[in-house]
Amino acid sequence: MDIACMERQVKRNCEISNGRENTPRTPRELLEYQYATENRLHPCESIESRLFSRWLKAEAKSWKKAKNRKYSEIRIKNKAYGIYDNDGINEKIRPLGIFYNARDSYEGNPSFLLAKIKKAGRIGGYRLIFLGQELAKDIKRSFHSPTELYGKDIFYREYAEAYLFCRKTGYLKTKRGEAMRILADALRGRGDRKKTLDGEKQSHIHHELGHALVRDKKIIPEKIFDMASLASGTRAEWFIEALHEALADTIKNGRIFYISGKGSRELLGMYLHDLMEGFGKHPILTLKVRILAGSPKKCSDLYWDSKKNDNWDMVHAFRREAFARASGMAEELKKLAREDKTDAETRADLVRLFDKFSVTFS
Ligand SMILES: [Zn+2]
Repeated sequence: MDIACMERQVKRNCEISNGRENTPRTPRELLEYQYATENRLHPCESIESRLFSRWLKAEAKSWKKAKNRKYSEIRIKNKAYGIYDNDGINEKIRPLGIFYNARDSYEGNPSFLLAKIKKAGRIGGYRLIFLGQELAKDIKRSFHSPTELYGKDIFYREYAEAYLFCRKTGYLKTKRGEAMRILADALRGRGDRKKTLDGEKQSHIHHELGHALVRDKKIIPEKIFDMASLASGTRAEWFIEALHEALADTIKNGRIFYISGKGSRELLGMYLHDLMEGFGKHPILTLKVRILAGSPKKCSDLYWDSKKNDNWDMVHAFRREAFARASGMAEELKKLAREDKTDAETRADLVRLFDKFSVTFS
């Protein structure tokens, strides 16, 4: 068993996942990131359009061919592991210095990642695994969330973080709008690129720590995620996910707690930029902004007002209020989860609850 053998097996499953995932609606930035990882580009290297198109044409063909194949179990030393047996597989491949993760998606099409391990650490009772080169991944595994939580492990993807940061600074030259104004202001006069990246790393890790705390303090119990699937196709579909995201950022020791504790305008600006740029793009992010602040305008007010008065108490207060609001919503969901109702009734209740919350959003 060596790294190349593991890489081949995971790549094969990635091709199937890509075949099922790649449609004309797949965002180009996800495909570009796939191109960057597969061709081992420097995270800041710009994507050459002609080479990218040629690559995509060839890849799309083999993805399409793979589409109807079945996912294969991972074989290590004559033993077969199910694709979701992350613990079993990692136990065996850890000595090789590599890390495997498979997760399910809403659509039921799995996402895979195989990466080199750089080092391991701990944060607040959880294991922290720092990942380097991404050896195999599918297009769904995006660069937008460089940290992920799996059980008691938080893993951090260094390449994804660097790629995200380079794209962000690139946007400053091409994109306009309020979120860009904040990002430009936050990054103005930044000295050390490495220091900025380190700050973002901690900021993202604390978002994931927030997720772990929300889960383990049972602010949102596991059962609610089963309920969420009942709401599919309704406006409430993304709500539970958005609420989890909002809680992860606002809980004590979560992302905003970390940023305001540091008193870093740079990190606050980058965070609010991420939040506002997502507005109108993905329903989860749109809802998250509403839960946290009511509107994108409130996010930008927070940035400029706290800057003008050099006042971090405003940011602390923003966090506490947003957390209280989100926790209140989680409480109502919990009540719903305790009731013994049929699936159809639960679905109707979820939609009703979501409509009620929608009023308080605006
Ligand atoms: Zn998250």
